[in-house]
Amino acid sequence: MQPYCESLTAYKRLKTLEVKVGDLLLGNYHPIRVQTMTTTDTMDTIATVEQSVRCIEAGAELIRITAPSKHEADNLKAIKDELRKRGYHTPLVADIHFTPNAAEIAARIVEKVRVNPGNYVDKKKFEFIEYTDSEYREEIERIRDRFTPLVRICKEYGTAMRIGTNHGSLSDRIMSRYGDTPMGMVESAMEFLRIARAESFHNIVLSMKSSNPLVMVQAYRLLVQQMNAEFKACYPLHLGVTEAGDGEDGRIKSAIGIGSLLEDGIGDTIRVSLTEDPEFEIPVCQDLVKRFDGKESHQPIKEILQVPYDPFQYQRRKTHAISNIGDKHVPVVVADFMKAETIVPADLRSIGYSYDEGTDKWTISDAAADYIYTGKKMVDFALPGTLKVICNFNTWLQANDKEKYYPLFQDAEFAKFKERSQGINFLSVDADTPAAYDVLMGTIDQTIVFCVWSSNVRSMPSVRRYIMELMNRGISNPVILAVESHQESIDEQLIHFSTETGGVLLDGMGDGVWLMNDPSRIHNVKMKGRTYLETKNNHQFLNNTSFSILQASRNRISKTEYISCPSCGRTLFDLQETTARIRSVTHHLKGVKIAIMGCIVNGPGEMADADFGYVGSGPGKVTLYKGKEVVKRAVDSHVAVDELIQLLKQSEVWIEP
Ligand code: SF4
Repeated sequence: MQPYCESLTAYKRLKTLEVKVGDLLLGNYHPIRVQTMTTTDTMDTIATVEQSVRCIEAGAELIRITAPSKHEADNLKAIKDELRKRGYHTPLVADIHFTPNAAEIAARIVEKVRVNPGNYVDKKKFEFIEYTDSEYREEIERIRDRFTPLVRICKEYGTAMRIGTNHGSLSDRIMSRYGDTPMGMVESAMEFLRIARAESFHNIVLSMKSSNPLVMVQAYRLLVQQMNAEFKACYPLHLGVTEAGDGEDGRIKSAIGIGSLLEDGIGDTIRVSLTEDPEFEIPVCQDLVKRFDGKESHQPIKEILQVPYDPFQYQRRKTHAISNIGDKHVPVVVADFMKAETIVPADLRSIGYSYDEGTDKWTISDAAADYIYTGKKMVDFALPGTLKVICNFNTWLQANDKEKYYPLFQDAEFAKFKERSQGINFLSVDADTPAAYDVLMGTIDQTIVFCVWSSNVRSMPSVRRYIMELMNRGISNPVILAVESHQESIDEQLIHFSTETGGVLLDGMGDGVWLMNDPSRIHNVKMKGRTYLETKNNHQFLNNTSFSILQASRNRISKTEYISCPSCGRTLFDLQETTARIRSVTHHLKGVKIAIMGCIVNGPGEMADADFGYVGSGPGKVTLYKGKEVVKRAVDSHVAVDELIQLLKQSEVWIEP
């Protein structure tokens, strides 16, 4: 076994214990279950039932409902009864924060309760407290006293439990001892798990969510390692990226985090948290899960004996710079124009360059591609200074400007040709062929940038395996991750690109991305009652996706970052509408992280590392935050977006659009 999964090369689900949630079995190689959470007021029985029905009809196998107080916990009975009356037997999960009393009621009614160890009995007031070891032990005993009754109720009623840690809501005690780290997240869950195990209660699922996919992936890996070390067994894992947002960004962030773990066989149930109606989360979950159907029969990938990096701690692979690729340079984006019959200046608008004929000048956006691949074509107009061309070797031979044009070789071909670029030589290798490994024999030309792809159905592990081989051989040439999608919808393509590249980028590998597809295969339609994302310009879609993946994996920041909660029964305003409004006025603030959270109870804790927060604090009221600090309380929601802009101006991060 590898440090955190069965294998990095052969697809194998991680063996976990079996958990029973009503009639649904989870873990122990059962299918990966998909789930979501309602956004209605839990006291509104009919609205919650109807939304649950929509989610169940879409394919949800578990429905989570918030129970902030005893009232809502009691009302779960009415919701459950109504659902059963209508013929729906999908297990229900009560979502608990802060209130043990509500949990103890809910555990007698629904099939599963979720507790957050950061705020169940423990405190979250953003205080730093120094604990001696004995004080720390006393705190854990206090938690044991308060948590054990819930464990006993779950045991008595056959109710399952999720111990769900959130990166943003670790308790002050955990933060004081472990900081805001994946280890803190793991220990927070392990403390509760040890208490439950001491009661011989094992009907438990765990989660380690964060809005940052990097933190989330490391925390899950570490949790697997810790459970194996301490218990010689793993409890099933519920995967999710919190506050992922909406649209493309929400899907990309979720796929990078969830998809990377699923690739390594980790994960027994998933929830994709989107700031959209919950039934729309289900198709995204299904698209993620179905990628793994039949993956066991992939072409074999040679096992890797030495893992040359620390999978629990991010460190970018050390490479040497070749022009603007590798070393400390942000990963580059390659726009693929091979299939375009012609290329005219207006085409470059879709990859971030706008040409003004009057001034004969290019305007370059923050998300402008660095290279354009033209195949056999030359470009017959003056390109913007920051854009360079990759073309096939024979085309490159004819190019006059060798500072602007660079050749692309196909693996073994490189050795055959004597003529080469003095600057960069791009070398395309299929990581699954012997030829890819043959090119590593002998001395490696320092000007080679590897463009690594894979024809295997398990492309990410093949590419990762190849880069590990480079590392083990001490080869420091940069690598561009080349990924092709044959999926038919934009949603599936987003998930494919994000999983294939994100999984490698999170391990610090990859100095660029090069995404390709066949636009004629994409169905820009709504079908089977599902809402698909749509796109009109394929180059723009691929370019935006590349930059969004680099941003979500924290490799290259090119736009504003939004951390918006999915909303739930606690939400105090229309989150989708408010997020869209805030996005429309702040989308140009590159690198600024803005959180939009539905309630003051969990919002401030869960907005993680946001620079600014817009948090619902009462009906029609919003509280504005700068970091973790309250700046304006109870702002009328009609003027709250203007007040947020004022705050951004005072904080000197505002620029005029
Ligand atoms: S932050 Fe959002 S999702 Fe979380 S409890 Fe509050 S309203 Fe619900």
